[in-house]
Amino acid sequence: MSRVYNFSAGPAVLPEEVLREAADEMLDYRGTGMSVMEMSHRSKAFEEIITEAEQDLRDLMGIPDNYRVLFLQGGASQQFAMIPMNLMKNRVADYIITGQWAKKAAKEAEKYGKVNRIASSEDRTFSYIPDCSDLPVSEDADYVYICENNTIYGTKYQQLPNTKGKILVSDISSCFLSEPVDVTRYGMLYGGAQKNIGPAGVVIAIIREDLITEDVLPGTPTMLTYKTHADAKSLYNTPPAYGIYICGKVFKWLKAQGGLAAMKERNEKKAKVLYDFLDESRLFCGTVVPKDRSLMNVPFVTGDADLDAKFVKEAKAAGLENLKGHRSVGGMRASIYNAMPYEGVAALVDFMKKFEEENR
Ligand SMILES: *Cc1c(COP(=O)(O)O)cnc(C)c1O
Repeated sequence: MSRVYNFSAGPAVLPEEVLREAADEMLDYRGTGMSVMEMSHRSKAFEEIITEAEQDLRDLMGIPDNYRVLFLQGGASQQFAMIPMNLMKNRVADYIITGQWAKKAAKEAEKYGKVNRIASSEDRTFSYIPDCSDLPVSEDADYVYICENNTIYGTKYQQLPNTKGKILVSDISSCFLSEPVDVTRYGMLYGGAQKNIGPAGVVIAIIREDLITEDVLPGTPTMLTYKTHADAKSLYNTPPAYGIYICGKVFKWLKAQGGLAAMKERNEKKAKVLYDFLDESRLFCGTVVPKDRSLMNVPFVTGDADLDAKFVKEAKAAGLENLKGHRSVGGMRASIYNAMPYEGVAALVDFMKKFEEENR
């Protein structure tokens, strides 16, 4: 068996310890004689799995008691509709456009009400985060929406926007659990698990209790109403049970690593070797304004599409996989999520140095 260094943006690398544990429990989960994939979601064993997963997540993020944690399905993209259906009481919301995901979310919300795009960085290919300290937040906006870490473009908000008292809703898919977060600053945070947490198929939403009501837009399906899932503790119907089980293991792994403060330190150290090299390289360069750089997704280019393609191909042959940039931007992108070890990033930088020498 040999594992590669997998720089995929998602589904992405998971901690090897977690995969090994899951393998050990595959045929017989702790004396139940069955796999977690085969057991009832109403069983005692699964109830323990989901309860512990929620508690561990609460511990890691310091989630206050007045916030609910929901394990949902439909991908992060389902939330693009679910958010307006549940939160757009006045049918007005403000969106800050920092990339494709925020753009898609705004477009979907438009089906339900008026969407004000109060800031955007599209003028420079989303290579920066706009100044959000004094935006024209709409008087009647139900919420202000952001995508906090832009997976495709490699930018991250270093400071949350000043929402002038409005509820902040944030897509944290690609920075979930990468560093400590003050949950109280948000009305809602959510993300798909397949970037930095677990397998695709699970979406985790953390929502302030008072925002979870029966007062949703007319016609909102039962399954797309937060209250349905909050009342049933994420067991209204069959949840993505195996995915939740793996997420739970990742939460325990993160706790064992020292929690989110320790992860932040590790992630900063990992990102620094790569960014430092990009800053001094005479072949490669990063595509993002330095102050807005993401710790998780690092896009870079050589400036020559053919050379980029050669790099991706040769890197793959050297065991460094999935370095091709998003189809909408080209170039390269290294996603260096929590589970990517420092050694993986160091190996990438060594390979880039060698490639630079050979191709200058
Ligand atoms: C991947 C991604 C999405 C879309 O996730 P799906 O689960 O495929 O719907 C949304 N937002 C961000 C920030 C992402 O990285």
